[in-house]
Amino acid sequence: ECLIDDPKYSFLKDLGLKATNFGVYNGTWHGSGKTVKSIDPSTGKVIAEVKYGTVEDYKSCIQESNKVWQEWAQLPAPGRGEIVRQIGNALREKLVPLGKLVSLEMGKILPEGIGEVQEYIDICDYAVGLSRMLPGSIYPSERPNHILLEKWNPLGIVGVISAFNFPCAVYGWNSAIAMVCGDNIIWKPSETTPLVSIATTNILAEILEKNSLPGAIASLCCGGADIGKAMSADENIKLLSFTGSCAVGQQVGVEVQKRFGRNLLELGGNNALIVADDANLNMAVQASLFACVGTAGQRCTTTRRLILHKSIYDEFLERLKNAYAQVLNRIGDPLKENTLIGPLHSEQSLKNYKETIEAIKQQGGKIEFGGKLLGNEGYFVEPTIVTNLQHDNPLVHSECFAPIVYILKTDSVEEAISWNNEVTQGLSSSIFTQDVGHIFKWIGPRGSDCGIINVNISTSGAEIGGAFGGEKHTGGGRESGSDAWKQYMRRSTITINHSKEMPLAQGIKFE
Ligand code: NAP
Repeated sequence: ECLIDDPKYSFLKDLGLKATNFGVYNGTWHGSGKTVKSIDPSTGKVIAEVKYGTVEDYKSCIQESNKVWQEWAQLPAPGRGEIVRQIGNALREKLVPLGKLVSLEMGKILPEGIGEVQEYIDICDYAVGLSRMLPGSIYPSERPNHILLEKWNPLGIVGVISAFNFPCAVYGWNSAIAMVCGDNIIWKPSETTPLVSIATTNILAEILEKNSLPGAIASLCCGGADIGKAMSADENIKLLSFTGSCAVGQQVGVEVQKRFGRNLLELGGNNALIVADDANLNMAVQASLFACVGTAGQRCTTTRRLILHKSIYDEFLERLKNAYAQVLNRIGDPLKENTLIGPLHSEQSLKNYKETIEAIKQQGGKIEFGGKLLGNEGYFVEPTIVTNLQHDNPLVHSECFAPIVYILKTDSVEEAISWNNEVTQGLSSSIFTQDVGHIFKWIGPRGSDCGIINVNISTSGAEIGGAFGGEKHTGGGRESGSDAWKQYMRRSTITINHSKEMPLAQGIKFE
């Protein structure tokens, strides 16, 4: 029995999904691997089934992709931009049903599910503009009658491996930019979010077909870690964009490096939000609530550590606990209008939450709020506030992908910054303060060492304009807007001699 047969979920059929779907696409839909059930994390019920791909299926995707790549790469960039414009428009038409599917399969609330599709649309708009702006450079040559150029060319096949928590937007960031850059894409989504990837690929496939372009320009291979490993080792993958945990990202990074390939790593975070003694507490509490419990703590940018100045510590903690109490009765079905917090994504996530709560108690942590599982069906938990653990406790330094926040008391902004920076990851960070001196310290060379540094907004909720990514064990990759496109192209430096002489650089004589 699948939810797809329930009239309440008719949007699934509008997205071209069936009770059993093929999970591999390279111009045709197929899949010779195991059949996997996609689960609704709010009930544990089956949404629909997917026939996964094998490594052999993956190899056939690569073969097709290699055959059609030149056709795509030789289309002028504005022509590729036109295809991405059509994809963006098709996503606009499917905004609500696809957003609902993201919510149903991942478990995030509907406005966030729709927000993910909107992010994909936004990056399409950005990529369309980029398709008419992809620059090159001309530099003055020191040799007479020579031209020194830098030109950007497409890379070839870009592999995208994505995590469960952003099953649509991460692919959008990568694919829209890669496509205008002239690359083909092959996507391996998380094993637990196959339906979002199939529905998304359906949209791309339709646009490619309408324009008489081969579907293998945007291939999909649903499957497990074996597909991810095959991609890491595959010389055909010219750039591997990986989003996921630090542990898996490290393995992927090493494998890609072994073959001198390129990777773009978007890995885990352990994000701190600092509240200084002069902060606007209304704003800081409001921002912390969203950043700590939004998406049930399953954003890479979720606030995991709240570092509070001792002078506002008691008041802030009290206010935060009140704010948590007010959202407790808004935990539930992510598709319902009033819900603010959905379930954890999977049984594995629930297990991680339970084990972390046990470890917190064993180590003398105080559960100030929450700490329990909720209800009999689905993977719901109470958002949890923890005090009484030291800033350098290994639990405080690790990323449990659930709504658990550690509260730390500090004497100064300087100490808070050093605690912000002492974790291995370096994704997002935030300070609440009105003091210009604090702000400049925070954003300066001795401030936060993260890729994302915010002031008076929380650690969560990035826009597509700036490049997104983090430092240290977060992997160093940058995706989305700004100049992230450079990673999806190769740069050639070209010198053209249009004289009848043969001068050498640095005035060297060789005659
Ligand atoms: P994960 O377990 O590391 O999995 C990520 C992806 O890697 C999945 O598609 C997974 O496939 C695949 N994979 C697993 N083993 C592999 C291997 N040996 N080689 C190649 N691929 C392999 O991460 P997750 O639990 O899905 O996602 C949560 C993590 O992602 C968190 O740490 C979060 O912070 C991070 N994240 C980071 C960002 C960012 O932009 N920095 C954004 C979102 C999430 P299977 O599903 O089939 O195992």
